[in-house]
Amino acid sequence: MLSAPTESVSVFDAPVVVVGAGVAGLVSAHLLAEAGADVVVIEKLPMVGGLARSFVYDKQFVFDCGPHRFDTSNEHVKTYLDRLLGDNGTFFPRKSEVYFKGQYYGWPIKPQNLLQLPRDVAARAFLDLTLNGFKHYGEMSFEDYILRQYGPTLYEHFFLGYTHKFLGVHPRDTHSDWAKVGINRAILDDQAQMQNLAQLLKSTLLQFDKKSQHFLYPTQGMHQAWTSLAAQIRGLGGRIITGQGARLEGQNGHVDAVWAGDERFKPSAVVWTAPITLACQQLQLPVPRLDYLGLLLFNVMVAEDCPRDYQWCYYGAADLLINRVSIPRFFSPATAPTGMTGYCCEVSCMEGDQRWLEGERLTDWVLDDLLKVGLVPNRHRVQDVRVERVGDSYPIYRTGYPGQLDSARRSLAAFHNLHLAGRTGLFWYNNMDHSIENAMQLTTRLLRESGVPEAPQASLAAGA
Ligand SMILES: Cc1cc2nc3c(=O)[nH]c(=O)nc-3n(C[C@H](O)[C@H](O)[C@H](O)COP(=O)(O)OP(=O)(O)OC[C@H]3O[C@@H](n4cnc5c(N)ncnc54)[C@H](O)[C@@H]3O)c2cc1C
Repeated sequence: MLSAPTESVSVFDAPVVVVGAGVAGLVSAHLLAEAGADVVVIEKLPMVGGLARSFVYDKQFVFDCGPHRFDTSNEHVKTYLDRLLGDNGTFFPRKSEVYFKGQYYGWPIKPQNLLQLPRDVAARAFLDLTLNGFKHYGEMSFEDYILRQYGPTLYEHFFLGYTHKFLGVHPRDTHSDWAKVGINRAILDDQAQMQNLAQLLKSTLLQFDKKSQHFLYPTQGMHQAWTSLAAQIRGLGGRIITGQGARLEGQNGHVDAVWAGDERFKPSAVVWTAPITLACQQLQLPVPRLDYLGLLLFNVMVAEDCPRDYQWCYYGAADLLINRVSIPRFFSPATAPTGMTGYCCEVSCMEGDQRWLEGERLTDWVLDDLLKVGLVPNRHRVQDVRVERVGDSYPIYRTGYPGQLDSARRSLAAFHNLHLAGRTGLFWYNNMDHSIENAMQLTTRLLRESGVPEAPQASLAAGA
């Protein structure tokens, strides 16, 4: 657990207002409060954690927003997580899969897994890799990137359908950054280079003595980390207001007020982690054409042990509604009662569309999917299903997004006391460790600018 600082001095002449109590907002507020700043956090939702929040049902089942685990090579973030979780962290070895043509395969694709694919697919994938060095592809889109990296067969079978189904945008109209960031980090093993046959052979040899990847997770569920951090912030004198959407007022390059309901705060600085589009709208700037994906979660509780042991699995088939399923008990057994299993089934949508509005009507379809893919033996074993809606879950990287983002950032930069941060605030397809690192860097800068010589905990971020 994080310990309280010994002494606190006020370092800003008015409160720092942090908009959003997700990872970036909470870590920023915590580091600022530890350095003696007067901090007010305003969160729209009734709970803290943002996209990394959890849903707890009947004090028995815990579900996160899809699979959530910590993984970082940044030593400062590691140290921060050690302080945050203390003895409440558990490590587990990664086991993720992909469901393809009625079979389960290990995921990320490792070069040697190609041999387990249906023979015709494997043969064509190898042929692609042999010829790939001689082909020329464009640079711009997700499609270009994957074709160049993995060839047409793997693109067609693994990436095209899944990405189109997940994002609702054709890979041709999706920016290559989506592949660079998402596929390389979250889906494919970084070391498994497969661009051509020589790389494939090299990677295959390297894979044999590769240690399995281990992830860190709070024993009681992801929410444990954020409720503990919120308690620390309050213990340091910070305020956290939940259930209130913040509203900015400003002019002449200065945010003059932040409203939480009827309460008005005159901020020295604002850390904004809510959607960048909303900041533009509230400050009456041109609103960029940037969209965030919505997510429906069907949290299914089943009175049965699980026939598979993956933490999460991708389901790309067009006849299945579900995109991905995660199983919280394989992150930590404390998240489900013994002998029972929770399945968090993700279905993507756009906030406000038919699926978003009438998600509950899709429950039968989701349960049919679970039967079809062999996770649930029959419907009588299903004890309960809760449908949750997660807005702003992923920034959608359309091919034209960099220009839109750049102009939004430039117009917001004119407001000198406004600081964008985190995944949603920066329209950034990132992970929790990146939001933590970003919060460390931002608070270090804010404290330096406010004249604090050596910020006690933000100094963790020095050089980060
Ligand atoms: C399905 C899924 C799986 C993921 N898996 C992983 C994983 O395994 N590992 C990992 O490291 N990361 C994972 N991530 C990414 C991780 O969730 C994010 O990187 C992280 O939670 C982002 O935190 P943030 O604070 O930057 O943004 P957010 O969590 O988006 O925080 C923004 C906050 O602002 C609030 N807000 C919005 N509007 C307003 C307003 N008007 N007023 C006040 N508050 C407002 C929101 O409610 C939210 O709490 C996953 C994300 C998703 C969606």
